[in-house]
Amino acid sequence: MSDDKVISLTGRKSRPLPDGVGEAASALGLPAFEPGWVWLVGAGPGDPGLLTLHALNALRQADVVVYDALVDETVLQFAAPHAKLEYSGKRGGKPSPKQRDISAKLVGLAREGKRVLRLKGGDPFVFGRGGEEALALVDAGIPFRLVPGVTAGVGGLGYAGIPVTHRDVNHAVTFVTGHMAGGNVPENLDWPSIAKGSPVIVLYMALSHLGEISKLLIENGRSANEPVALVRNATLKDQTVLETTLDRAVEDVARAEFKAPAIIVIGDVVKLREGLDWLGALEGRILKRDPLGVRGIEDAG
Ligand code: SAH
Repeated sequence: MSDDKVISLTGRKSRPLPDGVGEAASALGLPAFEPGWVWLVGAGPGDPGLLTLHALNALRQADVVVYDALVDETVLQFAAPHAKLEYSGKRGGKPSPKQRDISAKLVGLAREGKRVLRLKGGDPFVFGRGGEEALALVDAGIPFRLVPGVTAGVGGLGYAGIPVTHRDVNHAVTFVTGHMAGGNVPENLDWPSIAKGSPVIVLYMALSHLGEISKLLIENGRSANEPVALVRNATLKDQTVLETTLDRAVEDVARAEFKAPAIIVIGDVVKLREGLDWLGALEGRILKRDPLGVRGIEDAG
């Protein structure tokens, strides 16, 4: 590992744990981080309050934290003062490091006897290549632990007041990646089946392919008026939400200059936002009662 790749937040002091968290961690008997292990940990979508106790416990003990682009720096402040912070994402227009190189780095650090924390945005096993990295560790005989995190497609939407399931809307949800290696819309996906079978579709990494995806969904029977919401920087202080429809989505995204990272949800659950935008309510938004207009039906039944 070359030192120029090591990032230190200058003058970084480790943040004290929030009141009670240390006690909770020891009362819960959270595990000791053994040297030579890799812990694959989800940092959640950004709000540090969404870190798990396991994630905090890992940050307190790790010797080196290898983190992704989507991990918020506030979260890194919980790392122990001695921990080296290594960025493994894209930087300064350079291409992102190859997955193989990242896996090799994790193996190398573990073999040096380090406590290696691999910190990923959201959940490591949801479109995060956590499975690939874990398999590489297994191949190399490196012991590992997984700490799941709050995934953007569930918790990020929750921060926009959109439940991914709601009894009056959907009993199924499909998580889709809009981006394949090579940069195309996933061509091996069965779009007709997704359009027909999944009342709610959650798209990761799909902003640049939203036009093609919307078109495919409309061609396969989804209404052009179907509600769509995009949540940018979900759970962070600068979270922004764009509500649109399938046929207007691309135009609205361009007009609003809406940028990645964005999590996108398609389906009638978006209508619930009028009633459930709890963050908006903190700033004075009046929440609408019965946003789906189903209460009358239920009362009658
Ligand atoms: N493992 C991550 C997903 C990694 S794929 C998870 O479980 O959330 C990267 C994509 O996740 C982004 O392109 C975006 O679609 C979504 N994403 C992750 N964090 C996000 C955030 N804070 N706000 C909006 N989208 C986010």
